[in-house]
Amino acid sequence: MPDFDIIVVGAGPAGSYFTSLVEKDFKVLVLDQKKQVGGKACSGLVSRDISKYIPVDGLVESELDSCILYSPDKKIVKLGIKQSTYALDRDRLDSFLVERLASPVKFGVKVDGVEVGENVKVKTNQGEFTSRFLVGCDGANSVVRNNFDQKPMDTVVGLMVMAEEKDLSNSFEVWFDIDFVKDGFLWKIPRGRRVEYGILGTGVKFGLLEDFFKIGRKKCACERRAAPIPTGFHKTYFDRTLLIGDAAAQTKPWSFGGILYGFIGGKYAAPVVTEALQKNKFTEKFLEKYQKGWRSEMKKSINMGMMFREFFQELDNKKIDQVFDVVKKSGLKEIDMDHPFIGLLG
Ligand SMILES: Cc1cc2nc3c(=O)[nH]c(=O)nc-3n(C[C@H](O)[C@H](O)[C@H](O)COP(=O)(O)OP(=O)(O)OC[C@H]3O[C@@H](n4cnc5c(N)ncnc54)[C@H](O)[C@@H]3O)c2cc1C
Repeated sequence: MPDFDIIVVGAGPAGSYFTSLVEKDFKVLVLDQKKQVGGKACSGLVSRDISKYIPVDGLVESELDSCILYSPDKKIVKLGIKQSTYALDRDRLDSFLVERLASPVKFGVKVDGVEVGENVKVKTNQGEFTSRFLVGCDGANSVVRNNFDQKPMDTVVGLMVMAEEKDLSNSFEVWFDIDFVKDGFLWKIPRGRRVEYGILGTGVKFGLLEDFFKIGRKKCACERRAAPIPTGFHKTYFDRTLLIGDAAAQTKPWSFGGILYGFIGGKYAAPVVTEALQKNKFTEKFLEKYQKGWRSEMKKSINMGMMFREFFQELDNKKIDQVFDVVKKSGLKEIDMDHPFIGLLG
């Protein structure tokens, strides 16, 4: 008999949230290579929809109701945010999600490989664990995903630095300038007692971020954090195995947010895994409904986001300025952070 019903690789938001949905019915083991919870590079911006999944009391650092966008030539567009957005303390979010679990989370266990056959064998730096089902929530460089030869369509890198500045404003700011970042943007997020500065795109470096915001002149705890973020589509179900969260590239190809999309992935995975374990049905064919489910909710937005990304990657600074002119003329006042293109195109 295998040791566990389900092994979840990764105790980030996707892994912890999924575990919370299935642990009352099954014996679950969660493995994470980090020595302790937290430490992930992430701004923690999420729409109020997050409250449909978890209570956010004690996790919100600031609530933002607008964003100010700057073009390379300093044209400015100010947009309201539909429902407003929370800036969550990402470390506290991860701790909250792990601490409420009844299942053991084994930190300091790095998964090196998996074998899926009659059962699942998970090979780690602390020996082998076995289970009936495997869920890969192991992020952008997922070992579980790699085992099935899948690759995200696109990956960017995000870098961030926190400065000790008081800022109680309720707008975050975003800059576009291909002299600093070719296919992404820079941002400043007020978080009450601190301010976050960040940059996201391909080939970004801390030096660019620090030059742009003149970080050297700020009072700065200067804890630097960086992480890759995958996006686009690939297969997310295999015999006895599902992928959720960044491991499944469940992210927004415009902002690269993935917390809420990972929860949505978990919401669709839980009933499928439950049924598979109850009926002893572990074939790819049976598990395909997981992918159909999550894509029914996210596919349209991700597809439109990928098209926008392709268009954006072709723009030079002059054209970005022209896009700002079009947006200003359109009279657009508000944006939906989770599904902006569906909102814009009616
Ligand atoms: C700079 C930056 C800013 C961002 N800002 C936002 C934002 O504002 N809003 C938003 O929604 N999203 C944001 N994101 C994206 C968001 O952080 C991710 O989409 C989210 O963390 C995905 O959650 P996850 O649980 O799938 O993966 P992760 O949070 O990456 O968790 C994966 C876990 O798996 C573990 N793991 C990995 N490999 C192994 C292994 N081999 N063995 C054992 N354990 C393993 C890791 O230690 C980790 O704990 C940002 C990302 C970056 C880089």
